Amino acid sequence: MANQAAVIGSGVMGHGIAQEYALAGYTVNLYDLKEELLSKARRSVETSLSLLVREQVISEQARQDALERIILTTDLQAAVAQADVITEAIPEVIELKWELFEKLEQFAKKDAIIASNTSTFSIAKLIEKAKTPQRFIITHFFNPAQLVPLVEIVRGEQTADEVVSTIMEIMVKIGKSPVLLKKDVPGFIANRLQAALMREAFYLLQEGVTDAEQIDTVMKDGIGFRWAFVGPIETADFGGLDTWKRVIENLAPVLDASQKAPALIEERVAKGELGTKTGSGIYSYADTAVEEKLKARDEQFIRLAKMKRG
Ligand code: NAD
Repeated sequence: MANQAAVIGSGVMGHGIAQEYALAGYTVNLYDLKEELLSKARRSVETSLSLLVREQVISEQARQDALERIILTTDLQAAVAQADVITEAIPEVIELKWELFEKLEQFAKKDAIIASNTSTFSIAKLIEKAKTPQRFIITHFFNPAQLVPLVEIVRGEQTADEVVSTIMEIMVKIGKSPVLLKKDVPGFIANRLQAALMREAFYLLQEGVTDAEQIDTVMKDGIGFRWAFVGPIETADFGGLDTWKRVIENLAPVLDASQKAPALIEERVAKGELGTKTGSGIYSYADTAVEEKLKARDEQFIRLAKMKRG
């Protein structure tokens, strides 16, 4: 069984993925372009592991062991040479990913699995230039990768069956809930569902039907409250398919169907107002400690995960 992992790119997603592998007992080489990026990633992992200890999800010993298993490096060849499974989590730019894959095929063991954390590219596009397509697969984690259970798995036509079964086993071993897609479609399942909902949320905001706080409350106290335990297809069954037939027939014609990003998002992006990372987005974070907000979010996710497991 695989026990050596490598994660390429230590940003928002990479450090969380590395943490999950390390907690499950893998030695993880975490690679990035610069030392300071790796130091930041290590601090994030330390903070996250400490929170897990405080919430009694893991022991202090497990925290220390996991930290020891994560080796930081700016040497790509050394990072992947012994790895059984390599996860790519670099920016969503196809040329960068192709360039990296070429190096990985050169440096990695012949039977190492190469998994991409892409959120938008099809596996067919990712492996367009690959010489060993049989070892490529998508493992799409969700932010924060160390806390959200779901990982979408997408195989290519040429991905070996053994790679698929091994990656499914590995995902379960690292505590994830893997979902293997039957077809390679853009956005996979979760981002398609999420994008459909986001489009309508911004439409309602833009049309002045309500404000941002109310939309978020409707989601958190209503739809989202249910969705942590009952999925949309079950919701349709529970509500009655006759009822849902009428709901969709009556509402589908009036739902937003625009083909581009909402104007509100376009405007904010043009002004450099990108959300928490710039201090304002739709909401303003000028007077808010973003770190505190993220910590509170993570605490809530940990408690929800405990409840779901229980
Ligand atoms: P990020 O920008 O936070 O991190 C990317 C890291 O990769 C950076 O630290 C950067 O220095 C490093 N990097 C850049 N070029 C590199 C190269 N050529 N080789 C190695 N490392 C390089 O990005 P992120 O949000 O972690 O996203 C990474 C991937 O995960 C993307 O494909 C993204 O679409 C996907 N993803 C992101 C999210 C999310 O919510 N952020 C969720 C799911 C999937």
